[in-house]
Amino acid sequence: MEIVCPLCNGLRKQEMDCPSCHHVMKDEGAVIDYLDSYMPTISMDIKNQNDGVIGEECLHLFRCSYCKKEKKILISPYII
Ligand SMILES: [Zn+2]
Ligand SMILES: [Zn+2]
Repeated sequence: MEIVCPLCNGLRKQEMDCPSCHHVMKDEGAVIDYLDSYMPTISMDIKNQNDGVIGEECLHLFRCSYCKKEKKILISPYII
């Protein structure tokens, strides 16, 4: 049994409506990837832990394709 983020692992796709313009917001990936340039050492630690981590929600960045609004959403893990 393993607990994984369904979006990071390509198990499903998620899209949502932009709250401003109602165009589609697309998943831009886990927010952790965006922290690399700010905190390389800390994010490296988190990444290593995430390899086998249990019950962690994964924070994803969604961006509207139209107005470029960004929103961070916590993704519930899947058990596989
Ligand atoms: Zn994820
Ligand atoms: Zn929008």
